[in-house]
Amino acid sequence: WVKESGRATFRFHQPRKDVDLLSRMRLDHAMRQALQEREFRLHYQPQISLSTGQVIGAEALIRWRDPLRGEVSPAEFIPVAEESGFIVAIGDWVLQQAVNQAAQWLKQGWRMPVAVNVSALQFQQTQFVDSVAQALKAADLPPSLLELELTESILLRDAQEALLRLEALAELGVCMSIDDFGTGYSSLGYLKRFPIQRLKIDKSFVNGLPGDASDAGIVNAIVQMGRALQLHVIAEGVENDAQREFLSRAGCHEFQGFLYAPALDPRAFEERVWRPGPSAPRAPVHLIRGAA
Ligand code: C2E
Ligand code: MG
Ligand code: MG
Ligand code: MG
Repeated sequence: WVKESGRATFRFHQPRKDVDLLSRMRLDHAMRQALQEREFRLHYQPQISLSTGQVIGAEALIRWRDPLRGEVSPAEFIPVAEESGFIVAIGDWVLQQAVNQAAQWLKQGWRMPVAVNVSALQFQQTQFVDSVAQALKAADLPPSLLELELTESILLRDAQEALLRLEALAELGVCMSIDDFGTGYSSLGYLKRFPIQRLKIDKSFVNGLPGDASDAGIVNAIVQMGRALQLHVIAEGVENDAQREFLSRAGCHEFQGFLYAPALDPRAFEERVWRPGPSAPRAPVHLIRGAA
């Protein structure tokens, strides 16, 4: 069919698109079932302070093992869910799940801030702020232990409306960061106006560190700008020591990446991050700041 037909490929362009549409529809259908059948899970990727080496938070990343397809990457199914609108239901589930996990850890005496990815369509729902407030309340989680990761495109789509929503979320006390920073539009005025706390340098800029001069320049610029605006800067996709050292020297605050750990299921995350060793006792919950 299309692939082996070489130079005649263009003739099949239209039908091929239809095949893609069909497989996207099938994927969407499978996702709807997956939510009901509880096939989604959240994994947590540690975020590490570059100055102390301590794990200071975790990013929740959705995982899905479909009975037919096997493990499906969120890079594949999230865009399809965004297109169909099903992302709103998935996003709700992710939010509740992550908030519940952080609340459970807190009850066990472990204060671990959790960051959740938010899609544009989800953010645009009029009830979005309410659903965040409700999830926190239902789980009895201090809002400061939840971070919402937004993308530049979310903030620029309807900047006025977005600003109001961000202010409501800030009022609620949740943290907010800009994910994949540097890959969207380069209108920087909003950084000053929007009540965000953190920039996440996209891993496409981290890849080339330290050798690639443009990546190095971009990363330095982002860190300096972030610092000037009193924002924390975290780098994602850090895979080796040379990258980490560059970031540390550049003044970046935190990193996330395979160098430390990939996203782990909750049990593995606890094993890796919490169990510090046989001699280190866990602090009782009443001694942990903000747990009361
Ligand atoms: P993201 O939010 O920018 O997440 C970072 C991605 O980089 C994750 O891929 C993570 O596993 C991967 N990563 C982390 N460290 C490294 C590293 O050192 N090297 C490399 N090569 N990759 C690394 P993942 O989990 O496949 O997620 C892909 C994207 O799917 C996410 O990008 C995010 O945009 C979206 N996504 C994932 N979970 C959710 C979710 O619950 N809700 C929404 N709306 N989107 C999600
Ligand atoms: Mg993210
Ligand atoms: Mg990211
Ligand atoms: Mg990214």
